[in-house]
Parts: sequence; structure tokens; C-alpha cells
Amino acid sequence: MLGSEKGATLANILDTGIKVVRNVDRLMFGSGSIKALPDVVKRFTSPNSDGTVVYLVDHFFREQSISSIWSGIPDRSLTYFVDSSNEPTTDGIDLLTRQILEDSGSVALVVAVGGGSTLDTGKAVSNLLTNGGRASQYQGWDLVRLPGVPKVGVPTISGTGSEATRTCVMTNPASGLKLGMNSDYSVFDFLILDPDLTGTVPRDQYFYTGMDAYIHCVESLAGSYRNAVGDAFSKQTIALCDEVFSSDDMMSSENREKLMVASYLGGSAIATTYVGVVHPFSAGLSVVLGLHHCIANCIALNSLSDYYPEASRKLRRWAEKQSVAVPSGICRDLEPDLYSALEKATLIHEKPLTNALGPDFKTHLTSSRVEEIFRMM
Ligand code: NAD
Ligand code: ZN
Repeated sequence: MLGSEKGATLANILDTGIKVVRNVDRLMFGSGSIKALPDVVKRFTSPNSDGTVVYLVDHFFREQSISSIWSGIPDRSLTYFVDSSNEPTTDGIDLLTRQILEDSGSVALVVAVGGGSTLDTGKAVSNLLTNGGRASQYQGWDLVRLPGVPKVGVPTISGTGSEATRTCVMTNPASGLKLGMNSDYSVFDFLILDPDLTGTVPRDQYFYTGMDAYIHCVESLAGSYRNAVGDAFSKQTIALCDEVFSSDDMMSSENREKLMVASYLGGSAIATTYVGVVHPFSAGLSVVLGLHHCIANCIALNSLSDYYPEASRKLRRWAEKQSVAVPSGICRDLEPDLYSALEKATLIHEKPLTNALGPDFKTHLTSSRVEEIFRMM
């Protein structure tokens, strides 16, 4: 409990309204667990129903052998490859949902196989299929009215925690708003967590996305809106990331298993807490300069050592150890209007900034201070 008057204001600003936490209903874990996918699909479909099983699969697997994923899949299924070179947009989700409805008539189950972009696409499509309308109508908190089509998540890269959270992040190109459908209905019904699937991830991408789990939890533990369950998830996530990234090979099979657990626990932690200063700056980089979420987080943390000195130091040490480059110099000499746009896109994230710096965060994060931080990136 926060005792002071200032504390009471803080608690009011940050109250998420979430008093009953919804977790993923069921999960399977372990090397080879993907082989159970056909049985998992059967749990959600009946031989007599004519609903289609829709697979949304990261485009990387278009060229790859995915026979182990596909073997034993019933005929009544449709596969769509998700182009994760761009993160999900509301328009893209609308288009895909319309296409699925045209192709299938009715959908019994959505199976999302991929990283945060594909898992979020699966959640958003599942909600739209039953709720109708457009994706942008549901960006916000608890706006989804009906349960979505049942959905199974199969992560193929670890870190964002999307597999565990109650949101699916999308950018609305018209408004520039980057916000998810925060809803109990966005939580997966079933997860298959098979670390074998992450073996093909490029090393730099593996590092950036893995660091998202670490950064979520560092920010949560440094914030003022905390709870004991979130803290416990966060501490274990940080311990696992420490082991993975300090080791000689972050992608050994043992470490891929650990990072998959860290991602799931990190997602569970962030579901009931807030991030801090890194994510708002990272969102500025994504919205204004089009950088992807996880690499943008690493670039931001690298320049935020005043706020997270230990984490910022560890980022540099781990990147060096794993031979991964964290880009720098990208905001050194931008046009003045871009600095203004970056500032606006950062300071709009009032809740995480309040969580990290208090309700008066703008007296600290002045225009010149924000520009100074961006210039270091
Ligand atoms: P991603 O889904 O964007 O994919 C990143 C890259 O990795 C892509 O090129 C993809 O093809 C590749 N890839 C994925 N699996 C692979 C594999 N097994 N082998 C080879 N390549 C593979 O990655 P991400 O970093 O997990 O997700 C980022 C997205 O997650 C962003 O849109 C972000 O906003 C979102 N996000 C969501 C939440 C949430 O709670 N819903 C939380 C944080 C971030
Ligand atoms: Zn994140």
C-alpha cells in the first residue's frame, strides 16, 4: 500500500482495474511437444462440426519444412502466412479477418505459430471473428464484448511474453496509435511451448526479443505499482535471462528452454504491472522511425543508464558476450520536427512514465531532456 497523499494519487492514476487475473487455460511444455498439436486441435474441434481450423504462421516457415507441425492436421484447415517484417496494424488485421471469413465461412479454432507479431495477429483475429467491426474499435481496455474463437498459441521465438498476456499490440496507421485489445478474451486457451522451434531464429533477433522479457521485468520491479505475484514472476524472469545471456552460448538447447520459460513468466508479470521509461522511448522509435519493438527497446535501454544503470550495463556486457550489435547513432542528427515527434510519441505513455518517475514526470522529462536522451541513441 502507498501511504502518503502523493502515494494515494499515484495509486489512483495507475489502478489497472484488474482485480481478478486471467491466465492461459492450459499449456504443454518441452522439447518435442509440438508433435501433440494434432491432438490439441482435436480437443477444440468436433468431427461433426463444419468449422475450419485456421493456421496463422510466421512467414519464415513458408520456406521451411514444417512437416512436424503439420503432420496429422485434419483436412478442414486453412493456412495463412503472416508477414512479420512489419508489426501488426489494425488495417492488416481487418483485411486478414475479412479474407478468412470469405475463405472459410465459419472458424472453429485459430492456431497462431510464430513470434509476438503472429501471436498478436492470432489473438486479434480471433476476437474480431466473433465480435465483428474493425480492429481499431477494440484498441483500449476491456472493449471486446464476446469471447473470441478458441485459440492455440505456439511461440517460435521467446521474449515478448505475448503468449501469456491479455493484449495484442497493433498500430493504427490513421491515428498512429500503438495499442492492443487489452481483454481477458485476448488470452490464449492453450499454449504449446516447444523450445525446439526457436533453434532457427537469427542470433541478433533472438537477443533483441529475449531482452524484451528482461526489460519488462526490470521496469516493473523499479516502478511504484507493484504486487507480490508480479514481483515473483519478474525476479525469476530476470534470473533466467541472467543465466542465458551470461552463458557462452545463449542459443544452446538448455538456454532456449530457459528463455522460453522466462518469456512466459515475463508476460505473466507484465499482465498485472506496468513497464517504465524504456518502453515509452522505444515506442517513440517505433512510431516515428519505424523500428521494431525489441531492437528499439535495446537501443533505448542503452541510452537510459541514468534510470536503469545495472540493466543498461548488463545489456552492453551481454551483447558483447553474445557478439550481437546494439545499433547506435540513429538519432544523433535528426531534423528538429522529428525530435518533436519523438518527444510526443514518448510522453503520451503517461502510465508507465508515472509508474517509473511519479505523476510529475514531465517536470523531469522536459523537451530538452528528452531530446538529449534521443540524441544519445
Ligand atoms: P516477430 O514476431 O516480430 O518476429 C521477428 C522476426 O523473427 C521475424 O523476422 C520472424 O520471421 C522471425 N522468426 C520468428 N520465429 C522464428 C524462427 N523460429 N526461426 C527463424 N525466424 C523466426 O518477433 P517478436 O520480437 O517476438 O514480436 C514483436 C511483436 O510483439 C511486436 O509487434 C510487439 O509490439 C509485440 N509485443 C506484444 C506483446 C504482448 O503482450 N502482446 C508484448 C511485447 C511485444
Ligand atoms: Zn516489450
